[in-house]
Amino acid sequence: MSLDCVFCKIAKGELPSQKVYENEMVLAILDINPIAFGHTLVLPKSHAETFNDLRPDILGELVVRAQQVARAVVRATGAQGFNLLMNNGRCSGQAIDHAHWHVIPRKAEDGVKYNWAPRKYGEGELQKHADAIREALK
Ligand code: ZN
Repeated sequence: MSLDCVFCKIAKGELPSQKVYENEMVLAILDINPIAFGHTLVLPKSHAETFNDLRPDILGELVVRAQQVARAVVRATGAQGFNLLMNNGRCSGQAIDHAHWHVIPRKAEDGVKYNWAPRKYGEGELQKHADAIREALK
């Protein structure tokens, strides 16, 4: 746990939140700055900064509960779909250094946009990147 972490404080009940789900390992709360109404955050109660820092047992519980929460968000909001995403690191948009998934309910023509313009690999670059990732997995 990090002493100045907002999500650790919420998990301990030291800061208010709108909890929609809680068990011994996982918490789900409404995002107070929602991209869409019903935008929910699913997070571990124990502190981990990013996805890559999550212990396997916590990650497994988090995935199962994220699916449960996503189903409920879709049902409760009447959404036609949802985004499930996690920002990792400031450069990706992570605002609070405590790993959390965003469940964002979506409807056709809801006006929610994100600017992910696909790039084109140059000659040989696709192979080069694939080789580098395969090597890093060893
Ligand atoms: Zn924390």
